[in-house]
Amino acid sequence: MDMQQAEQLYRLMFTNMREALAILRLDVRNPDAPPQVIEMNPAAVKLCRCKSFNLQDCLVTDCFPGWFDPDRFKDHCHRLAAFGGSLELGEVCRDELFYRIRIFALTDNHIGMVISDCTRYREEEAEIADLSAKLEKEAATTDRRVAERTAQLEEINEELDSFAFSVSHDLRAPIRAMQTFAEILLDDEMQTAAERNAYLVRIKTAAQGMDRLIQDLLAYSRVSRQEITLEPVRLDQVVRDAAQQLELTAGGKAYRLEIASDLPTVIGHPTVLVQVVLNLMTNGIKFVPKGVVPLLRIWTDEKQEYCRLYVEDNGIGIAPQYQERIFKIFERLHSMDSYPGTGVGLAIVRKAVHRLGGRIGLESKEGEGSRFWIELRRAE
Ligand code: ADP
Repeated sequence: MDMQQAEQLYRLMFTNMREALAILRLDVRNPDAPPQVIEMNPAAVKLCRCKSFNLQDCLVTDCFPGWFDPDRFKDHCHRLAAFGGSLELGEVCRDELFYRIRIFALTDNHIGMVISDCTRYREEEAEIADLSAKLEKEAATTDRRVAERTAQLEEINEELDSFAFSVSHDLRAPIRAMQTFAEILLDDEMQTAAERNAYLVRIKTAAQGMDRLIQDLLAYSRVSRQEITLEPVRLDQVVRDAAQQLELTAGGKAYRLEIASDLPTVIGHPTVLVQVVLNLMTNGIKFVPKGVVPLLRIWTDEKQEYCRLYVEDNGIGIAPQYQERIFKIFERLHSMDSYPGTGVGLAIVRKAVHRLGGRIGLESKEGEGSRFWIELRRAE
């Protein structure tokens, strides 16, 4: 390619490029002399303020007024002319479009200036920033969910550990009893019929005890696993149903029941809630001193969006140090002779209340009765 052809091609490129290009001249002997435009391509002319200018004495700052600080621009140009290199001058906004300006040394007294429209680039950058902010937010949500799930799994694991320990321990007790009595029956041939009968009765009692335990464990497992769809439930109806069932299971035992009127509607599950209230009521009439007629009082207390249902008894009460323990599976504070049971009831109650998104607690003093409460979200 000869010089003329090369010159022609460069001129074509200069004329047709989308970027604005200008060539500036500097009087390098005078550091205060501002750069002058000596050439501009059509794209630069389009951006330039003075459309009909005399290139001989047109200052850059006149062509592009307000695009850059005149003094700093002049200093930058002198420095580039002296030391070479290029410089990005930052972004300028004109008529809602954004431009990036770059100046670079051409010769020791000429500076090139390129102005490129970066509006689309900026929009894309904003979109990318928006997307990465969304991604970060999602990542944070995922992290939080993973942490929550891990904590839940850890809790379930711990629960499972103590559950397996308690189950094996408590289920083995009746099995050991059955084994022992069966061995006595087999080994000792000198027993009377009455003695043999007594051992057989003990074996039967142990088997019945084991059956009760298994039934309660199944109930616990059911409440832990069953699908629970939360819905508005009228506590009036729940307490009425539980009271009816209590009458059937009390087996003629005398007790008094005081139920407040107009109990509110809460968010829960009807059958699960009846099971919870029936369990608390059953305990309330069971754990009373001999000779005392049980008195159960039931009422609610509403606080903002929550409602507390109280089940209060006039029973033997529970010392503070046991008030957390009794909600664990198989935890019992009394012998089977004084108060029979499996120690699963309150574990079921607590699990059920948690599954309904609620809380459970109690207020009690030894010898002064107990007041159990469950707290649930009120229905609107
Ligand atoms: P269970 O009734 O089969 O013994 P629970 O899980 O229902 O098992 O109760 C655990 C223990 O908590 C009971 O054995 C008893 O010692 C104590 N308890 C529960 N409810 C009451 C109550 N209303 N008054 C006094 N003690 C109670």
